[in-house]
Amino acid sequence: MVSKTIFQKIIEKEIPSEFIYEDDLCIVINDINPQAPLHLLIIPKKPLPKLSDAEEKDLNLLGHLMLIAGNMSRKFNVEDAFNIVINNGEKAGQTVFHLHIHFLAGNKKLNLPK
Ligand code: AMP
Repeated sequence: MVSKTIFQKIIEKEIPSEFIYEDDLCIVINDINPQAPLHLLIIPKKPLPKLSDAEEKDLNLLGHLMLIAGNMSRKFNVEDAFNIVINNGEKAGQTVFHLHIHFLAGNKKLNLPK
């Protein structure tokens, strides 16, 4: 059996974490190691390991995550300037194999997550 990722444990509340937002499809939390003054992680509840594993049936979910990014930008009053990043694959810097969107704001220059 494949062991649960840290994000799956957070979603299932096995590990405590403050949810900035939650709905049926996703959660939003603060990144534990922020790379910008505001660094959120938008995480689908469905445990897709990475973006390249998404299929046609995930269309609604992927669109939903983008809408939540827009909602977060308004919630934190950064709708004029934010970056979203998805690391896909180990060689691209992905460390947690549960799809997530980095939402970064507050820096003039984007500081990409390592
Ligand atoms: P990535 O390298 O794209 O897979 O991003 C994983 C991100 O998860 C990193 O930015 C980590 O700082 C973040 N992270 C790891 N563990 C936690 C945690 N327990 N709570 C919040 N963020 C975490």
